[in-house]
Amino acid sequence: MHNAKKCLNKFLEKEIFTIQQFQYREEPPYKWSLKYFKKMEIGEWDSFCEKCLLEYSKKSLDSWKKSQV
Ligand SMILES: [Zn+2]
Repeated sequence: MHNAKKCLNKFLEKEIFTIQQFQYREEPPYKWSLKYFKKMEIGEWDSFCEKCLLEYSKKSLDSWKKSQV
């Protein structure tokens, strides 16, 4: 069973994305990302479609940049 409570779009199983994807970003650091998403009650095992993940990616990067000023 997949936890898709944060994503209302229907998606195929092979197209499931999680925030673990953000381990491979240059910035922000993954630890920072985990904290950021924890505040939104999103964990490493929550499933999202690609569109949602891209949105989260962008939002978190914006937050990170603001926090670095
Ligand atoms: Zn989605």
